[in-house]
Amino acid sequence: MPLNEIAASLYAWDLHDEGVDHALDVLASRAEVNSAYLVGLMHKEKRPLHARFYPHNPVRRYYTPEDSRAYWIPDPSKYGRIAPMTSDRDFLKGTDWLQVLIDGARARGMRTGCEVSHTVIDAALAREQFSDVLQRDVFGNIVGAFEAVEAQRALPCLNNPDVREYLVGLFTDLASNYDIDYVQTCLVMFGAGRDDGGTHAFGPSSWQQLLSVATGGCFCNACGDKARAEGLDWNAIVDEVGHLARLSKRIGLEELHERQLLDEANYSESTLLIENDAFTAWLQFRKRSITELFATVKAALASTGRDVELRYNTYMASPERAGLDFKAAFQHVDSVRESDYSDQLGTPEGVATKRAKLMKCRRALREDQKLIAALGVRPNATPETLRGSVKAAVDSGCDGLSLGHYDGATMERLDAVREGLREWEGQERYWQVLAED
Ligand SMILES: [Zn+2]
Repeated sequence: MPLNEIAASLYAWDLHDEGVDHALDVLASRAEVNSAYLVGLMHKEKRPLHARFYPHNPVRRYYTPEDSRAYWIPDPSKYGRIAPMTSDRDFLKGTDWLQVLIDGARARGMRTGCEVSHTVIDAALAREQFSDVLQRDVFGNIVGAFEAVEAQRALPCLNNPDVREYLVGLFTDLASNYDIDYVQTCLVMFGAGRDDGGTHAFGPSSWQQLLSVATGGCFCNACGDKARAEGLDWNAIVDEVGHLARLSKRIGLEELHERQLLDEANYSESTLLIENDAFTAWLQFRKRSITELFATVKAALASTGRDVELRYNTYMASPERAGLDFKAAFQHVDSVRESDYSDQLGTPEGVATKRAKLMKCRRALREDQKLIAALGVRPNATPETLRGSVKAAVDSGCDGLSLGHYDGATMERLDAVREGLREWEGQERYWQVLAED
């Protein structure tokens, strides 16, 4: 299939610092970009992410955003108990950055969209005002994303009715009030737990990683109520997952002893699953919850009466540990952006990793659903790996590319996208009859 859509992401501060016209003209002329989206609800993450400093921003060397702010003007009628926060920074507040991007993109005939990124509630505010909606581990601790517990991050529980209402509000707000073609999201799902390392000589084995899911989310009241309503024995789940979480974290002398036996045994992922019925039931309960969330969001977009595509943006190597089963959840999406950036390893092995992830997504999608391959157009990638990534996209039945991210891109990397498209004949214009001399 032709790689018809070449998308690129922009942040509100990119638009402020470089100007929407300049950024879009660079992307279109160098990398054939014909689709631009705003990271419209952005989490707390230093930009640029991988390089220490921006390669081409004329105003600032780097930027540290506020936590989980919306960069459009939210419509209050779409929200209930929880509504999005907007920026307090002087240079950003008061401007509808999504409209700025849409105006620039439409003037160039581009597709356009908005991303709801990893987290949707400021963690400090959530801990203060909405602690009841936050994910809890089996010990009752608030579950965060990405960082250590001490960083005080916080994830809302996707089974909480107030959180569901908020998410539906975000998607319907964007689809109802803006001329966009797609809403993309890489919302963090259930906390996937983490293996603290212990004494693994070669990193945790697969059963140890699966065991660590027992230390993730969620055990909030909303999850307990929902599980009981589905006929599950929640007390048995709490008991069994609690035991597994103590094994994972080596809490208590009996559990430490048992863990040491397991570490020296020929134990496996399948043994763990077959042995622990309640743990397996809990994993399936999380999967049903996430699949239902996808269906709810898809229905919310449809309810606006506008034809707005739901695009899921992957973010994890093992999404099933967060409750996301591609085959089930992707029934409810229109397209998937596989956000692998392994091209930034600068090696053929990195490109092979990307190809494998694309194959996994393509296998889970129907013929009418689009697969968009992300490319890391940043300094750690090389022009060679980027051209190889275009080949990986062609090999795996993709429908487009999506560049991450303009703020950290170099011109040479952007040029490599255009060159890779020509080298691997990624678009219909390369499939024509030769003109006679
Ligand atoms: Zn919960």
